[in-house]
This record gives sequence, structure tokens and C-alpha cells, in this order.
Amino acid sequence: MTTDAALALAATAAAWRPVQAFRIPSRTRANLHYIVTSDGYCSCRAFAVGGFTSCDHTAAVQLLAAVVPDPCSDLELTRLPDDSWAWSRPAR
Ligand SMILES: [Zn+2]
Repeated sequence: MTTDAALALAATAAAWRPVQAFRIPSRTRANLHYIVTSDGYCSCRAFAVGGFTSCDHTAAVQLLAAVVPDPCSDLELTRLPDDSWAWSRPAR
């Protein structure tokens, strides 16, 4: 990725959404971990081969979410008066 591409992506940050992510160790391969997000993505091969729909890791995270809700689900990226950015909860 070039710096220009990274800058172009960063310019879209207001549309980004925070999610919980988990680094889950492989059950069969030592020193291998998968990144699984609370919105249903996994970096493992089975997830890709299965059409990016589910795998054992995403199912495990769904089980966890049933017990421990995502504490970041309502956060929004907001531009502050000093032109910096921060994740915050919208006023209710
Ligand atoms: Zn997986």
C-alpha cells in the first residue's frame, strides 16, 4: 500500500465503524492466530473458502457476544473542535 492510498483511506474515516476484534489461537497450528471481529469477519482460510460467511471462529465470537455484548457498538467517529478525531458515544 502506498502512502497516497493510505491517506485516501484515512480520509474516509468518518464512515468507519469500530468493532471488537479478537486474536484467537489456532487449535491445530502452533504460533498461528486469527483475527475475528464482532461483526462476523475472520482471517482464517476456512472463512475465505466458505464464501466469507462463517467459520468456527466467528461462531465462537457469536457465542461470546451472547454473554458479553460489544461495548463499542454505539461509538461514532467525531471530529473535535481542534480538528482531531475521537470515538465517542452520541448524545441521547
Ligand atoms: Zn475462522
